[in-house]
Amino acid sequence: MRRGFKVTPTIRKKINTLAKAVGCTLNWHRGCGIAWNKKDIACKGEDASDIIHDIAHFAVSSKKEKNHFDFGLGTSPSTDDLYDEVKRIYSYSKCDKIEAKASALGIHWEKKLGLNWESTAEYHSWTSRYGRSRGDDFDELKQTWRNIRRTINKYDLRYILAEKMMKGKKK
Ligand SMILES: [Zn+2]
Repeated sequence: MRRGFKVTPTIRKKINTLAKAVGCTLNWHRGCGIAWNKKDIACKGEDASDIIHDIAHFAVSSKKEKNHFDFGLGTSPSTDDLYDEVKRIYSYSKCDKIEAKASALGIHWEKKLGLNWESTAEYHSWTSRYGRSRGDDFDELKQTWRNIRRTINKYDLRYILAEKMMKGKKK
């Protein structure tokens, strides 16, 4: 687990609200191996950043992609080799584009929820793989945020609604 991304009760509450906003099911009792098993996202022992990233994958995935383990994007560094069912259904470059989109959306949420998003941006190689340009390390990331603006706005609004609904429940 990366430092500073431990799921504290406060963070857990925010993650649950986010999942509600996106409409995906989290499983706090299932961990390791396949993150998305076509039903829920494994959260046990995962760091907050990784869970948020997987919720972002859910948000940007199509119905077809949701019917594949880990959204049909192939094995990730955290996937166990034993799970050869985790197959890539598209070309590597298409998977990479989807990955960048999910990464950018998740990092936007981290920023919103008060996590150390800069650390994740670096961890997801936005400062190296996608190149540094014009002296701004996060230039490519910010461009991707602009490209997915509609998705970002949609879920920002749904987050506010989900927050209200969850607050209402306790009364
Ligand atoms: Zn990913």
